[in-house]
Amino acid sequence: MGCILLTGQGVAMSQSNQKAATIVVLLGPPGAGKGTHATAMSEHLSLPHISTGDLFRENIRNNTVLGQNVKSFMNQGKLVPDELVLDMLFQRMEAPDCARGCILDGFPRTVAQAKALDAKLSKNTRIIALNFNVPDSVLIERITGRLVCKDCKKPFHKRFDPPKQANVCDTCGGTLVTREDDQENIVRKRLEVYHEESQPLIEYYAKKNDSLREVDSQNPKEQVFRDILLALSTLKTKESL
Ligand code: ADP
Ligand code: ZN
Repeated sequence: MGCILLTGQGVAMSQSNQKAATIVVLLGPPGAGKGTHATAMSEHLSLPHISTGDLFRENIRNNTVLGQNVKSFMNQGKLVPDELVLDMLFQRMEAPDCARGCILDGFPRTVAQAKALDAKLSKNTRIIALNFNVPDSVLIERITGRLVCKDCKKPFHKRFDPPKQANVCDTCGGTLVTREDDQENIVRKRLEVYHEESQPLIEYYAKKNDSLREVDSQNPKEQVFRDILLALSTLKTKESL
């Protein structure tokens, strides 16, 4: 992954050709299960899963200029400034694997980002927003016990969703790590930022062409996934997905 430099092939963007595409936007606080379900949705819908957080972490690992610039924001639980987010994401969305659309996890995070996305899309690209609802009280416990595969990025949980073998990814055999920003004090800051900056997106998408669906993400994983598929089917996405 990282910044893919192929351009001009993804149809999600207004400059590209005009085939129908669908962008599924995942909304909800950190720890709501967006990453977990994005992986499953990506397989089910055959759409790429694009996580802005993963793209940033990849850049940090590769010590790119972008990585050096975003590191301190992420480690303080703050949002990365738009000028560092938008180019990276839009470039990724131009890659050929986004021709039918993609699943966006961690973007948009502000109404300004949602507007920037709208401005970029062609008329034939529709947005579906899924809001993952979970009370804050559950989130801290979920995030501080989270483990993530270094290679395929699949999330696990020390207690709620442990891997079969300690610290080894069930799917790809990669090493499981704890994210630097998953420490409790940083998690609290991220939740604060979420309520202030990202929660208004729920209303933004609710008002926009009935494109929002709610998912109760406190339920067991399998049930949440069934609910997601049901929500998508009520949006009559079959013809375009
Ligand atoms: P989570 O959803 O669990 O908070 P992410 O991996 O999506 O985790 O994001 C981690 C961090 O990356 C955020 O706290 C923020 O600093 C940065 N980030 C990711 N996406 C964006 C974005 N769209 N705008 C600004 N900052 C972002
Ligand atoms: Zn893995």
